[in-house]
Amino acid sequence: MKKEFVVIGLGRFGGSIVRELVELGADVMAIDISPERVDDFAQIATQAVAADTTDESVLRSLGIRNFEHVVIAIGENIQASILTTLMLKEIGVKKITVKAQNDYHAKVLQKIGADHVVHPERDMGIRIANNMVSNNILDYLELSDEYSIVEIQANEKLAGYTLIDLNIRAKFGVNIVAIKRGKQILVSPQAIEKIQHEDILIVIGSDIDIHRFEKKALH
Ligand code: ATP
Repeated sequence: MKKEFVVIGLGRFGGSIVRELVELGADVMAIDISPERVDDFAQIATQAVAADTTDESVLRSLGIRNFEHVVIAIGENIQASILTTLMLKEIGVKKITVKAQNDYHAKVLQKIGADHVVHPERDMGIRIANNMVSNNILDYLELSDEYSIVEIQANEKLAGYTLIDLNIRAKFGVNIVAIKRGKQILVSPQAIEKIQHEDILIVIGSDIDIHRFEKKALH
């Protein structure tokens, strides 16, 4: 069965979600108050509808309740974003993801029952900053306020040693969950696996421990 989603708000963020969902083979109903924006998605989404989602009767007539997951990507108009979230909750939508414009907006969304609140600009800013301060950290994914997964470039200091030799978990409290070696990915590498110079290590741990590992083990 095809997955069915609704995306409300077809700006850069919502629009990119619609495109990717379609690319991934999902059915997507794309909604925006602006008919011009809707026109842009008429050939892309399964269904593109011009509607004001702060109007409860509109939400009901579109049958949004029956979709698996709704993304609300209305940014600027915080009031419309909050009202839409409230109404979708009221009509019984099971899963709602909402883009927050700022921390206050996020707090309200959480209070009224949004299942997942995202801050794409803030999160991408954090990610880029983390990549910038370290030459070895290639990518960064925040799991919570304290924990992350990072991609770290191995170097000559680690090359030739096995995971047992390096004893990284005991020394630094972080785990190497995978190793990218060219096109190959070694998931859950064995303790006897020897690290190679060009390897990219996928490391999970607390931010403090990852930072310690990155500072002490690689420099
Ligand atoms: P982005 O940062 O993702 O590019 P944007 O800045 O282009 O977004 P926003 O103001 O954040 O635009 O709003 C995203 C979309 O939400 C717009 O296309 C806007 O027309 C739509 N929108 C605003 N209010 C409503 C509403 N009440 N119902 C449906 N769509 C709405």
